[in-house]
Amino acid sequence: MNNQLYTDVLVEVPGLQTDRTYQYQVPPRLAGILQFGHRVKVPFGKQKITGFVVGFNEQKAVPGVKEIIGLVDENPLFRAEQLTLARWLADYYFCSTVKALQSVIGPALKKTAARSVARLYSAVGPEQLPLLQEQLARSPKKLAVLETALQHPGLDKRALAAVSGASLPVINQLCAGGQLRVETELLARDPYPQYEAVRQAPVTLTTEQGRSVQAITAALQQGEHRVFMLHGVTGSGKTEVYLRCIEQVLSTGRQAITLVPEIALTPQMVRLYKARFGRAVAVLHSRMSDGERYDEWMRIDSGSAPVVLGVRSAILAPVPDPGLIIIDEEHEPSYKQEEAPRYHARAVALYRAQKNRGVLVLGSATPSLESYCRTLSGGEYTLLNMPCRVKGKNMPDVQLVDMRREVQSGNSGIFSLLLLQKLRSRLHNKEQAIIFLNRRGFKTLVVCRECGLVLKCPRCEISLTYHTDGRLRCHYCNYQVQALQRCPDCGSSQVGYFGTGTQRVEMELTAHLPGARILRMDADTTTRKGSHEQILAAFASGEADILVGTQMVAKGLDLPGVTLVGVINADSTLHMPDFRAGERTFQLLAQVAGRTGRGDEPGEVLIQTFTPEHYAVQAAARHNYQAFFYKELGLRKEMGYPPFAKMVRILVYGRDEAAVQQAAEKIRAQLDRFAEGLSGGRIMIIGPAPAPLARLKEDYRWHIILWSADYRQLRLVMQQFAQASHGTLPGKALKMSIDVDPMYT
Ligand code: ADP
Ligand code: ZN
Ligand code: ZN
Repeated sequence: MNNQLYTDVLVEVPGLQTDRTYQYQVPPRLAGILQFGHRVKVPFGKQKITGFVVGFNEQKAVPGVKEIIGLVDENPLFRAEQLTLARWLADYYFCSTVKALQSVIGPALKKTAARSVARLYSAVGPEQLPLLQEQLARSPKKLAVLETALQHPGLDKRALAAVSGASLPVINQLCAGGQLRVETELLARDPYPQYEAVRQAPVTLTTEQGRSVQAITAALQQGEHRVFMLHGVTGSGKTEVYLRCIEQVLSTGRQAITLVPEIALTPQMVRLYKARFGRAVAVLHSRMSDGERYDEWMRIDSGSAPVVLGVRSAILAPVPDPGLIIIDEEHEPSYKQEEAPRYHARAVALYRAQKNRGVLVLGSATPSLESYCRTLSGGEYTLLNMPCRVKGKNMPDVQLVDMRREVQSGNSGIFSLLLLQKLRSRLHNKEQAIIFLNRRGFKTLVVCRECGLVLKCPRCEISLTYHTDGRLRCHYCNYQVQALQRCPDCGSSQVGYFGTGTQRVEMELTAHLPGARILRMDADTTTRKGSHEQILAAFASGEADILVGTQMVAKGLDLPGVTLVGVINADSTLHMPDFRAGERTFQLLAQVAGRTGRGDEPGEVLIQTFTPEHYAVQAAARHNYQAFFYKELGLRKEMGYPPFAKMVRILVYGRDEAAVQQAAEKIRAQLDRFAEGLSGGRIMIIGPAPAPLARLKEDYRWHIILWSADYRQLRLVMQQFAQASHGTLPGKALKMSIDVDPMYT
């Protein structure tokens, strides 16, 4: 015990981002009790704060060490591997270790009283029954209770009272007297109590599925670290491949984590996993209660739920020995956490799989450029292709509608004549349609509606954005020009500032198609828990003819009654001010196009756009990933953008715009100084410029973007910067965030 005289505590100091541990003395009453991973109360300056025990030592490090005040929880909250993971997160993403640790052990911090049941057992054995009958001859009720308890061990109080015919006070007396023994059993709050494992007849794998399963299970058997990119078109049966591989990893005594995007974690998905693995499945997502999440977390931690199915944060789950990690739809932006620690689940998965000699499977119909790149020759990922849908179903027919022609022939509305005509015929045939539009807060895309010209920054190849001050700006380097009245190419005055909302689409649709029943699904109509499911259910049961929505409807596209999907404006994603705009567009359109036509009727997709010749639109319409990939890769290479470089984004925000801009400029100067002192590869630094969401809530936002093909150099600059700034800014009321590998720039 004498090596536990002092302890190192990682403290949580409000307002100060600290990675330091502080030493405290272990009071005698906690000697032998205090353990690694305990959450404790400690004195800090004049305050009492919480901290986490991360080490012990015999020697006093500094004079005047203070004593620990006490334990916050009875049990430790984390193991050494979890601290290691938190330290890695903090280091890679430039955030404080405490913040990272709080994320890593998230649900464990929110312990809520578990539901429990008190089970009653007779303290005497059946052989003593005659003796009891004698002793309790004058207390027939007590006797009845004990006889019942012997016959039915483990009833709770109420049941015992009901069966024996005795009252609760009688039972309480027996408990107090020691004749009845009480055992408390914790009941896990199972969020999916109705789902049971059912043995179904196993499906016969397609040749492609079989090949994929074989490659992955071979790696699992060898217990070596491997990464597989499972590139399978929508409907190629990737889920079945996942399930088979999980069966394999379980048979080696290890565990599996499956990540799906929030929107894909539907009850159907859970049912599928539960049907195969029953109670072995633990589910983690953001709409569960703290209690449910806590219980699932504990089942994972104890190893009693070896199959984890969850969203982004499930990658941090305390799985003891993850032999297999699967990331479905690995290209989804929602795998990136948009608050500190700003981790990407794929990066964490890669770290865990490497560290634990596990297999990582990345599944997608439209792999991210970053991942697919690594499957090329010399890359470290193994590519598995599944280019066909199971049961020989065809990909749906995709038609492009050139909106420039519509404008030229006098129709400057939201809908092309073709889309309206097809909608009318669906209404007439009592078939359903979905109208899809992408929006992410930008109202200000500038496109010539006659020739399709988009104004881009000459330096960054990023679409310029219209600002309220009447200027067009580049959100990377702050290049500016006066907003135009006429198109510089064709002279047309039809210069459009886009940003059609779902509400307007709904209104105009009602005007065009009187009598049509329309449902709308977007951020406004889905604020309540479960409203998303409700809208989809209403639509599925035929309560409406047309569903209008944002990205959210993409998951509802499996509805067999839907024979038409209309994309209002492919350009709204295409011209996002982001170097991934092309990639995002291809993914969205391919997803929309890929999810129809799953029923018996072949689906039809209509994409409206002012730039039908754009490679991303063309490739999506033809279901041609390769064509898209190589074109996009060439452009990225030209600009030196990821995957040819690593990127970091520093965002400064606050209520006073001048102060925000000033602070951002100061940071830029500081970064330049740090970069000058280095001798390695070139580091690009641009900005400060107003961020794409230049104003969010009350705050003005400016950002600086850094990138380099030589990430070690970039990290050196960032480390110096992080040290110099301590995560705080000189100006008051200003905030800053550092984003490594940003998803949205
Ligand atoms: P993906 O995830 O690749 O888009 P899914 O896993 O959703 O595809 O599979 C599409 C459909 O095909 C599902 O309904 C699934 O049950 C079915 N399916 C998968 N594999 C087979 C198979 N080998 N034989 C028959 N049906 C299959
Ligand atoms: Zn023009
Ligand atoms: Zn620029």
